[in-house]
Amino acid sequence: MQVYLDNGAGKPVDPRVIEEMNRINSEVYGNPASFHSKGFDALKIIKESRAKVAAYINAEPDEIFFTSGATEANNLALIGGANRNKKRGTKIIISEVEHISIINIVKSLTRQGFSMEMCPVDQYGVVKLDELEKLVDDETLLVSIMTANGEIGTIQPIKEATEIAHKHEALFHTDATAAMGQLKLDMKELGVDMLTLSSNDLYGPKGVGALYVRKGVRVSPTMIGGGQEQGLRSGTENTAGIVGMAKAAEIASMELDEESKRLSMLRDMLIEKLLGAIPESYLNGHPSKRLPNNANIRYSFIEGEALIMSLDDEGIQVSSGSACAAKTLEPSHTLLACGLKHEEAHGSLVFTLGKNNNSEHVEYVVEKLPGIVKRLRAMSPLTPKELR
Ligand code: PMP
Repeated sequence: MQVYLDNGAGKPVDPRVIEEMNRINSEVYGNPASFHSKGFDALKIIKESRAKVAAYINAEPDEIFFTSGATEANNLALIGGANRNKKRGTKIIISEVEHISIINIVKSLTRQGFSMEMCPVDQYGVVKLDELEKLVDDETLLVSIMTANGEIGTIQPIKEATEIAHKHEALFHTDATAAMGQLKLDMKELGVDMLTLSSNDLYGPKGVGALYVRKGVRVSPTMIGGGQEQGLRSGTENTAGIVGMAKAAEIASMELDEESKRLSMLRDMLIEKLLGAIPESYLNGHPSKRLPNNANIRYSFIEGEALIMSLDDEGIQVSSGSACAAKTLEPSHTLLACGLKHEEAHGSLVFTLGKNNNSEHVEYVVEKLPGIVKRLRAMSPLTPKELR
């Protein structure tokens, strides 16, 4: 049996999206900037797509700026936002559990005169709002806290954090990549200034994303060129990718309620059965404020990488942390921020469910994993006798 449980790192593209993209690639190939009918066709379909993506988050079409993905949207929000709003101050606050792209962007900004502060999280990875209150002051330019963490699944109190930033007239950005297709995102309700969107997380193509920028918020471009996307993101638009993202967003809005209920049930079944079947296993992340598709469980005395390889031999694909940091072999900064020790953080597995998973898949993992853990523990000198 093949059981793919790494949907947080990469999702299959929805067949309805593929069909739409194939049509665009073969029929709507004009440059949207061209002054003829083929160009107008492309311009029209991008306009329609922008409206669909805007509707998905209850925003206005001219608040959506298409990019090459979440990383670029994060760059535009933080570098473009910081450079354009220097007068507000130089302090940038992020949480300790941000995606590596956010951490590295802000580190790069510290070499240009900005300062970085990290807001701590509790044992579940939830941002401590009282600590945020203490950190935000009149020197604060920007606060960036992710909507939800794709590795431990924890959902953040974004509305409350935004209100804290706004009390001091600081801008608020949130990276919603991991929340895409899982949580309702309503820009009128959340009140954030900028929000990063990713297409693949909606079962759209990879390499496409967008930044929502609330009307009136000023951002400098980071990509300079022909002035596409209202001058904020130059470069000929990726028409098929944008249409694919919009189709994926349209499908996600229709299916969100039912699918998130279904995934939450599968997730809870997976967590309950695995914790019950394997001694010395613990849930990482928040028990209830959690993404519907995420289960992150740690196993004492073993390495996540050894577990991943053994599971892959059985046709099960999972990950040990954020795919973007997988090659470093460092313990997850997210788990360390939750207070875990290095050796505890190393033995964690992230299961991210998706549209193609069902209860048979959960049963298959529950059948295979306990034996693998037992075998690996038997080989580890750290394992106490009673667990061997
Ligand atoms: N932010 C978060 C929270 C992510 O999980 C990822 C990776 N999926 C990114 C940003 C970067 O996305 P991409 O590699 O598609 O640019």
